Amino acid sequence: MRVRFLGAADCVTGSRHLVCSGGQQLLLDCGLFQGWKTLRERNWSDLPVPPHEIDGVILSHAHLDHSGWLPALVRQGFRGPIWCSPATRDLAQVILLDAARLQEEDARRANRGGWSRHHPARPLYTTRDAQRALAQFRPVTPNRPFKVVGPMTARLTPVGHLLGACAVSVDDGEKRLLFSGDLGRSDDLLMPPPQVAPTAADLLLIEATYGDRLHPQQDDTARLADIIRRTVQREGSVLIPTFAVGRAQALLLVLQRLKRAGELPPDLPICLDSPMAQEATAIYHQHRRLLRLSAAEERSLCDGVRLITTPQDSKRLDRPRRPVIILSSSGMATGGRVLGHLAAMAPHPQHSIVFPGYQVPGSRGGRLVTGAREVKVQGQYVVVKAEVHHLQSYSSHADANGLMDWMRALPQPPRQVAVVHAEPAAADALRLRIEEELGWPAHVPQQGSDLLLQT
Ligand SMILES: [Zn+2]
Repeated sequence: MRVRFLGAADCVTGSRHLVCSGGQQLLLDCGLFQGWKTLRERNWSDLPVPPHEIDGVILSHAHLDHSGWLPALVRQGFRGPIWCSPATRDLAQVILLDAARLQEEDARRANRGGWSRHHPARPLYTTRDAQRALAQFRPVTPNRPFKVVGPMTARLTPVGHLLGACAVSVDDGEKRLLFSGDLGRSDDLLMPPPQVAPTAADLLLIEATYGDRLHPQQDDTARLADIIRRTVQREGSVLIPTFAVGRAQALLLVLQRLKRAGELPPDLPICLDSPMAQEATAIYHQHRRLLRLSAAEERSLCDGVRLITTPQDSKRLDRPRRPVIILSSSGMATGGRVLGHLAAMAPHPQHSIVFPGYQVPGSRGGRLVTGAREVKVQGQYVVVKAEVHHLQSYSSHADANGLMDWMRALPQPPRQVAVVHAEPAAADALRLRIEEELGWPAHVPQQGSDLLLQT
């Protein structure tokens, strides 16, 4: 078995690991690079293997940095099956179609505004490519082995983090590989704690998004309530850029709990301005048995919430006559309806903009939470006078201790560990802890490097 690290090897995004065995090639995840422009430009590079020679893909979960390059892979000739859990398939449908629409919109806008270096600007992929990719999905039940290609079998193990998210183990009859995907936290608002993979592995690919950090002990829910109350007192509104899938549902839960506890005015309007978040919420309802919520709490997630559907209603929210809370995507303010609200609200000091969770460095959200007082939105510079807050405890990733705990619980030590899906400092910090605390050989693979598992 040989593994080639084609993405998320020196950064947090673009998760792509190619497993080769017996002449077959299996891709684990096929994610989009996000963040700095130099990383995003990698989305336009060809894979080192022709996509039509890849025999299949296993998707750990539906987040864009794990699934978002699938339509490009299909556009370039990949025709094989894409295995994943049933909930991942349902969420990927929402996420990939939205990504394709955003790609098409960006290309159209760049052509109108003339700010693309390419003439004409073209989308990375289209809605048609995303639909073709979705037709290749093959949902499989977690915790049961399934046959993939050639001698390889695989198994999905739920790991919290996001509805449907799983770790992936691959066995070619001689060697076993375990890929963590993204690990959730044991105290996640919506998802149960990660399950431990039941089989031993020769090679462990462990994510390390929070490899050098621990989640803050402070209660961000109390802080969020305080920010909202202070903003409302000065007649301002609160904009919460949120990932439409996962985070939006967790925030609805938090806001409903705060209202029930009397921490927020009961009549303070909450607007969910994201058709995608509304679709995702419906999928969370369908798969409610995978959540850790009581039936009553799950049913009341959207009670009293204004669901904004049309672009006209979305625009009207920019000039609210009384304070409102606006949940809108995308979560790092890289695209979507939140951009209109950001441009309208950021210049006014009475408003607050609250980023809940990790912001990729270089993204618009990443710049704002590190103190940028001016950001470019749709080709225009916008001055930032609103309060900007970053609530880091709403991460859906395990922190460094959570990652270590999951590894410690594995049935047997792996023979080697590759630390992936992290900024260089986080990857190296986790590598050190693995070597020092567990005594397992660990390394941080380079983008494009190869690893041969010796028999
Ligand atoms: Zn994820």
